Amino acid sequence: MNIEVLELDTLSKNKLETKNLVNELVSANKLLLAQNTALALENKELGIIASIFHSQEGMLITDANLSIVQVNQSFTDITGYLLEEVIDKKPNILNSGRHDQAFYKQMWQSLNYHGKWEGKIWNRRKNGEVYSQYLSIAVVTDALGNITNYVATINDITKGRATKEKIANLSYYDPLTQLPNRRLFLDRLVQEIDAMSGNGRRAALLLIDLDRFKNLNDTLGHHLGDLLIEQLATRLVPCTRKKDLVARFGGDEFFIFLTNLTGTEIECASKAQEFATKVMATFDTPFQLDDHHFSMTASIGVTILGGDETSTDMVLRQADIAMYQAKANGRNRICFFEEKMQDDISQYVQLERELSNAIALSQFELFYQVQVDDKQKPLGAEALIRWNHPARGLVAPGYFIEIAEETGLIVPIGQWVLEAACKQLKAWEAIPQMRGLTLAVNISSKQFHQEDFVSHVKYIVKQHGIHPALLKLELTETAFFQNIETLISSMNKLNGIGIQFELDDFGTGYSSLQYLKRLPLEQLKIDQSFVREIEYNENDNQIVRTIISMTQNLDLKVIAEGVETENQMQILLDGGCHRFQGYYFGKPLPVAEFEASIANSGI
Ligand code: C2E
Ligand code: MG
Ligand code: MG
Repeated sequence: MNIEVLELDTLSKNKLETKNLVNELVSANKLLLAQNTALALENKELGIIASIFHSQEGMLITDANLSIVQVNQSFTDITGYLLEEVIDKKPNILNSGRHDQAFYKQMWQSLNYHGKWEGKIWNRRKNGEVYSQYLSIAVVTDALGNITNYVATINDITKGRATKEKIANLSYYDPLTQLPNRRLFLDRLVQEIDAMSGNGRRAALLLIDLDRFKNLNDTLGHHLGDLLIEQLATRLVPCTRKKDLVARFGGDEFFIFLTNLTGTEIECASKAQEFATKVMATFDTPFQLDDHHFSMTASIGVTILGGDETSTDMVLRQADIAMYQAKANGRNRICFFEEKMQDDISQYVQLERELSNAIALSQFELFYQVQVDDKQKPLGAEALIRWNHPARGLVAPGYFIEIAEETGLIVPIGQWVLEAACKQLKAWEAIPQMRGLTLAVNISSKQFHQEDFVSHVKYIVKQHGIHPALLKLELTETAFFQNIETLISSMNKLNGIGIQFELDDFGTGYSSLQYLKRLPLEQLKIDQSFVREIEYNENDNQIVRTIISMTQNLDLKVIAEGVETENQMQILLDGGCHRFQGYYFGKPLPVAEFEASIANSGI
C-alpha cells in the first residue's frame, strides 16, 4: 500500500521506535498509519498529517468524542465534503441508512476490544449518492492507554480499489482468460510486422469468432458464456507455438498471430489452414458449462502477411473481412482473405439498402412447396419467400433472411409474408382442389417476439376471413431463446383460435424435451440435413428414428423435409414418418404453377 511507503519516508525510524503507542491495537496493515497519526497528534500537528495523507485513500480523524478534526483531500474527493463542512461534526453525517443497529454495535465492539475495525460499508456522499466503501478504523491511545483519536481510512469500492499492479495488468490482459488483450496484442503485432520487413518470412493472422455466441448468453446466461470463453482460451493456447501471439479482443473474438512462417505464399497459407483446422477441431468436444454440455462452433478468418508495407490496421481488417465471409458462407468454417472479399462486403451493404425498399417496390413473392402424406396425397404447402430483384433475378431467402434478421427488416417482411399467405388461403377457398390445403408460414423468432405479434396475426386472420386451422406457423428452436413463458403464452393464445404450430429444422438446435412437452405444438419437422444422408449415414438414420419415436411419445405429428428420392421416403416411412416435403414430391413453385401441379396430381 502506498500510504505506508509514503509514511516510512517521512518518519524517522528512531522516533517510531520510541513512540510505540499503538502496537497492540492495530493490525500490521494499519500499524504505520496509526503510529504516524499518533505521533503527529501528539505534536498537535494536524495540518502536517493532512499533507502526509495525500494518498488515494480518504482519511478522517476524530477526537476521542468522535468529533471530526481532520480529513484529507481524497476524503473530499470521495465524499464531496470539504474539511470546513465536517469539522467538529460526527462521522454519522456519512451514514447511508443501509445498516441496522446491530451492524454498528458489532463495529463498536470490535473497536473497544481490538482497537480496530474494518469492513465494507455503505455511506452517503454529500450529493446524496449512496456508495460502497472499504473502511478501516484504528483507535489511537496515549501512553496511558486513554483513547485520543479515531483514524478512519476509506476506499471507494465503486471507483475501484485495484492496486497499481492490477490496473497495469488489466490494461494489458483480459481479466477473464488472462490472455493478452487488444492493446498488448496490437503493440506486439506492430513489433512483429516491423521485424518481418525484409526478412522474407511470412505470418498469418487468424480471427476466431464464435457462432451465435449471443444465443448462449441469452439462453443460459452470461455466466455460462464467460465459462465457455475461459474454457476456449485454455483449448486455444496449446494449439499455438510459444512464439505465436494469442489474444482475446473482448466478447467472443480471439486473434492468433502465427509468426515466422516459411515457404511460398501458398505453402504458408496451407500451414495456416492446417493450424485453423486444428483450432476448429478444439470445438469438436462440447464445452462443459456447469450442468450443460454445450456444443459451439466458430468462424475463422485468415489473412497471410507477406512482410511488405503491411499495416496493422490493414491486416486486422483483412482478417475481419475473411471471418465475415466465413459467417456469410454458413458459419463453422475457415475463410481466407482475398481481394474479392472486399467486393463482397460492399455488395452486402448494397443488398441491405435494396432490401429495405423491396416491400415498397413489391419485389417479394411467395413460392409454394407441396407437403404430402404417405399416399403422396397433397396435404398443404409451405410458403417460401422469393425476392424478384431487378438486377439479380430471383433471390432465394438464404441470401437475405439473415440480413433481414440482423437489420430488423424481418419484421415488416414477415408481416408481408403472413398477409400474402392469408390472402392466398382465402383465394384457394374458391378453387375446389385447393380448398382445405394447409399453408405453413415461416416465422422468424424476432418477428414472433414482437409485442403485437399475437394481435397482429389475429387481426390478419380475421381481416381475410380464413379458416385459422389452415394456417400453420413454423417456428425454429431459436424462438426458445427468449422468455419461454411469454413464448408459451403467445402460442397458446394463437392456438386458442385454431392456429397450428410446427417446429422447423428440428434436430439442429438446442431443444429441451421439457420445453417440447410444454409447447402447444402440432408437428415437428425433421431437418433436411438428417434426411440428406439417411441412406448412408448410420448416425443420421439413428437420429431420425429417435426423433420419430420421440414424436410418438409426445403425441406430435412428424414431417420430414428435403426428401429427394424414393428410397429416402421409404426409409422414413419404415421409421414411422408419414408426412413429407421435398423435391421428390415437388419443388417450391410460383402460385400458378403450384395450383397446376395440384390439379395435375389428380386429387
Ligand atoms: P425452411 O423453412 O427449412 O424451408 C425449406 C427449405 O428447403 C427451402 O429453401 C426449400 O426450398 C428447401 N427444400 C425443400 N425441399 C428440398 C429438397 O428436397 N432438397 C433440398 N436441397 N432443399 C429443399 P428456401 O426456399 O431457400 O428457404 C430457405 C429458408 O429460408 C427456409 O428454410 C426458411 O428458414 C427461410 N424462409 C423462407 N421463407 C421465409 C419466410 O417467409 N420467412 C422467414 N422468416 N423465413 C423464410
Ligand atoms: Mg420452414
Ligand atoms: Mg426447415
